[in-house]
Amino acid sequence: MSGVFSRDFAARTPLVDHAEGVWIHTADGQRYLDGMGSAGVIGIGHGRTEIYEALAGQGSKVSYVYTASFTHPWQEELSKSVLSVAPEGMSAVYFVSGGSEANETALKLARQYHVERGEPTRHKMLARWQSYHGVTIATLSLSGRTSWRAPYDPYMLPVVHVSPPYSYRCAICGPDGDCTDHCIEELERTILLEGPETISCFFAETIVGTTASGVTPGPEYYRRVREICDRYGILFICDEVLMGYGRVGRPFAIEDWGVTPDMITCGKAIGSGYAPLGAVIVSEKIAGFFREGRRRFVHGFTYSGHAMSCFVGQKVFEIMQREDLFRRPAEIGAYLHERLGALQQRHEMIGDLRGRGLYAGLEFVADRHSRAPFAPDQQITSRLVAMMRERGVIVGAGVPGANYGKGGDHIQISPPFIISEAEIDTLTGALDEVLTVLGQEPRMLAAE
Ligand code: PLP
Repeated sequence: MSGVFSRDFAARTPLVDHAEGVWIHTADGQRYLDGMGSAGVIGIGHGRTEIYEALAGQGSKVSYVYTASFTHPWQEELSKSVLSVAPEGMSAVYFVSGGSEANETALKLARQYHVERGEPTRHKMLARWQSYHGVTIATLSLSGRTSWRAPYDPYMLPVVHVSPPYSYRCAICGPDGDCTDHCIEELERTILLEGPETISCFFAETIVGTTASGVTPGPEYYRRVREICDRYGILFICDEVLMGYGRVGRPFAIEDWGVTPDMITCGKAIGSGYAPLGAVIVSEKIAGFFREGRRRFVHGFTYSGHAMSCFVGQKVFEIMQREDLFRRPAEIGAYLHERLGALQQRHEMIGDLRGRGLYAGLEFVADRHSRAPFAPDQQITSRLVAMMRERGVIVGAGVPGANYGKGGDHIQISPPFIISEAEIDTLTGALDEVLTVLGQEPRMLAAE
């Protein structure tokens, strides 16, 4: 795509030769530590040739069948595997090719569920600002990433956005507070104002990813979301495309809140980059309703439940189980957060350190006391990412605009689940150097 849309981008972008473990090797002989796990995709690490060897054996028995006409062993097997690690109460899985497709599928399933139950007025969706759910028109409509929505604004669907529990930037509870009370009040007020009978579902990234790097709700937040959704007949859908499937040290992030959503969407680590794969994990409440009424979900991509992707997904699952990778990010992630915490002590410009397991978000400020962001002209995020790359480490640039439209610099660190302590030291060592350089520059505060 880069070659088609921008020659300049193609010229600047390194050509990959091979990748192994947490390392990406380019054709010019450089190597890069994949500190963002290639957009949070890589769980089991790069270069697991056993997956393709298995594919060449058993996997080559069926490359493709249309899943409206047939099912196949790989889909059946992977469904069982995914359900074996999913929260209790989930009973079906719908496989797609990625995260946007998973979310698009979930919102359609929610809508059809209400229509079939005789509640066709439920057409609006609730979601949160500072969130990202995908690039299709429907999933972009759900997303609260204002900069990406802007060009397509006239196409946006009826989604009502509420505040995420982003305490570091919260004018009500302050940086060390817990936004649960007022976020829940806002959610309920919004439902009542819109009319509960018009609302289909509430979509939330369990822990916010790229748009506000690691914003994590307080311990009561999702229990109260669940209560409100139940009270008003609204389906609760967790987007765990980035945070699910092991990244936070559990199969699914929502487990930390002890709540069962109506659907969980996942992508990225479920295929770990070895094949395009996403999934919607559906609760018995919904799956049973369709099954018992012999209702057909009016949906289906040509590549829903793709045989090769499901086969690869099953091999990824087996490696995850064998090497305890659904749990390892908790332990090794604690080490990552400890190292980053030490950097925060030393570098005034790290305002906030967020996230769990092998996901860390760092928000940068020009003044730690007032939390004033840097002036956008100082281009902290893009320069930091480039300086890290010069030192052979890739980290993810957070999307500007998290700070209520006033810019805001943040990065994300989301390495493969197999990263070692020594590799984390390499990553944090490079970050220490870069922050030392940037910290010596005069600080330009963003205009009020
Ligand atoms: N949801 C979340 C939380 C994501 O982070 C992403 C991608 O970054 C998506 C959905 C969209 O997934 P995909 O790019 O696979 O369509």
